[in-house]
Amino acid sequence: MTETKTYTGSCHCGHVAYEVDADLNQVISCNCSICRKRGALLAFVPEDNFRLKSGEALTDYQFNRKVIHHMFCPTCGVGAFARGIRPDGAKMIALNVRCLDGVDLDALTVRKFDGASL
Ligand SMILES: [Zn+2]
Repeated sequence: MTETKTYTGSCHCGHVAYEVDADLNQVISCNCSICRKRGALLAFVPEDNFRLKSGEALTDYQFNRKVIHHMFCPTCGVGAFARGIRPDGAKMIALNVRCLDGVDLDALTVRKFDGASL
């Protein structure tokens, strides 16, 4: 079932705030080097679905091939989203689903993704 809804999301201190149209039927738990440390649940949306309301002065963390911008709040340290580019060139946003408001995390079907083996 595909169901796109509009969610609001933020970091802990509120410096970062965004609105996004997302389908949370495709939530991923990844075991790559950064995801296992951050504990984020991920959902991916096209950049057009994502509206950053505040949070211009974010810290941009990059590693490995440096294709993903792991944006995090310099005040509270929460990484509420990341910016990336799909192999076909489309700009994508990786949402930290744990940062979305009003989502029942226990009700989500979480698919495991073996990012550590990439
Ligand atoms: Zn913050």
